[in-house]
Amino acid sequence: MLGFRQLVFKPEDFKEFGDLRALPILTKAIIRDNFEALQARNKQDFAPRRNQTSGSTGQPLVFFWDRDAHSCGWPNAWRAFAVAGFQLGDPLLILSGGALMPKVTPLRQRIYYQLMGITQLRAYHLSEEEMAGYLTYLQGTPGHPKYLYGYASAAYLFARYLISRGASVQFKAVFTTAEVLPLQQRGVIERGFGCRVFDTYGNNESCLAAFECEQHTGLHYAMENAFLEVVDERGEPVGEGETGRLIGTNLENYAMPFIRYDSGDLGRLTREPCACGRGLLRIGNIMGRARDFIYTPDGREIHGAFFNHFEPFYRTPWIAGWHVLQDRIDHLVVTIRPDGEPVEADVERMLELMHAGLGEDMRIDVVYDSKLHTTPAGKQKVIECLIEKPGAGAGKRD
Ligand SMILES: [Zn+2]
Repeated sequence: MLGFRQLVFKPEDFKEFGDLRALPILTKAIIRDNFEALQARNKQDFAPRRNQTSGSTGQPLVFFWDRDAHSCGWPNAWRAFAVAGFQLGDPLLILSGGALMPKVTPLRQRIYYQLMGITQLRAYHLSEEEMAGYLTYLQGTPGHPKYLYGYASAAYLFARYLISRGASVQFKAVFTTAEVLPLQQRGVIERGFGCRVFDTYGNNESCLAAFECEQHTGLHYAMENAFLEVVDERGEPVGEGETGRLIGTNLENYAMPFIRYDSGDLGRLTREPCACGRGLLRIGNIMGRARDFIYTPDGREIHGAFFNHFEPFYRTPWIAGWHVLQDRIDHLVVTIRPDGEPVEADVERMLELMHAGLGEDMRIDVVYDSKLHTTPAGKQKVIECLIEKPGAGAGKRD
């Protein structure tokens, strides 16, 4: 890793955000390899806390952040919730895995949650029995929290469950987080909970946090906490409004500065003013992990968005969830979580459409399992590719 001195970058040269481009993009691999060197010598002045990512990309990344940087999380969430009428102290239901909810909730957090009126519902491999229990709780508690905050896939699964059982529960708003929210899932969640969905985005390491306003046209990002760039594969800025890698510079963390940090996510930046009047720029078209690709035998790269928006998954009543795994260049395993008896004709139609997108040379096996693969934090991974990008050699994947 090169230091500022070798890069001929003097802090006094820094006049505007564009000057940051003199510095290389910071990746998880660079941070792991230079863990000590990247910590400020006076880090103790900022009451640093040890933290780690939830490990959605495999190995969790350990890092330090200031007490102030840590304190940005909930205020950003509250600002997001306020768009839908939420006021500080209103009861809140959290439906998630470890990213919002550790396996063992520390006493301090339990007290905090109680004081804040937060009720936690676990979303790890959300089973029929659990959903039945959650429904009983909601129907038997007229004063239940009217705002739900949770993983998009869990909210979708539960909403599907409510609709298929003809159950009626009324919420004021659902806030989704941690996963890509396809349009089709949004529609189902809105029907199931009888309210609008507001998507949110967060990347702790770079303090990049974003929320949807009442216009639902992209996510306003917290420019007070982070500076955002969108770059292409070579690290060059993309054209206005084009999709690329989201690169965040953390403006809060002095203990371990994250400058031009690659969030690993794809999205685009919109500079046009929003009809809501907020001055915060918007992130649009958040497509999920930049490295979520399926490679085809005919040499194409298909981004995971293909499966995020794959219509048969949403239009087939007995399909509740899915996971796509590539273990060879010409082989996929599609795991389906069934809700009811699988129908052979539906599977055939689904395979036809997959072959139309991926080519006839791709072999596709369909298996059924009520437990889909998730990350250690319980987030749903739509696609997982176990092979290296063809022709890329044994590159380091982070
Ligand atoms: Zn807006």
